[in-house]
Amino acid sequence: MKKETTLILVKPDAVAEGLTGEVLRRFEKEDLRILNCRMLRLTPALLKEHYAHLAHLPFFPEIEKFMASGPVVAVALQGPKAIERVRELLGPTDSTKAPKGTIRGDLGKDKMHNVVHASDSPENAKAELKRFFGTEEPKV
Ligand code: ADP
Repeated sequence: MKKETTLILVKPDAVAEGLTGEVLRRFEKEDLRILNCRMLRLTPALLKEHYAHLAHLPFFPEIEKFMASGPVVAVALQGPKAIERVRELLGPTDSTKAPKGTIRGDLGKDKMHNVVHASDSPENAKAELKRFFGTEEPKV
């Protein structure tokens, strides 16, 4: 099966609470391999670009504030059907509706504080990998 590469961001509260290892363990257990990773703070410009599809929504300033509240961990994950499988392992956006056993269902708090961002399509995966690693195949 063809390998894909996807981009995840462990969100600031999850990083601060020491959940990065648990999150990565869940992906690695499912044979998704870490191709590259980095810790960074999201700048206003990066946030505007990354969440452009939400810029019109009333809670956008809250998302910006939350996502800039501390460092995130950006990870390029690779494996068969990685984009779809990572989204499945996360569960739906609203943590309170995410089934137990999913990352958001087990570790998330609500709609906004949902532990991890993950690319939702091959096009977005390419754009997001470039955004955070400068290349679509961020091998070290
Ligand atoms: P996903 O992260 O599941 O792909 P979206 O792209 O729709 O979801 O939203 C991006 C992020 O914005 C979510 O992960 C969440 O942190 C926040 N968000 C989305 N919808 C809401 C909402 N109704 N209220 C608060 N925050 C939200």
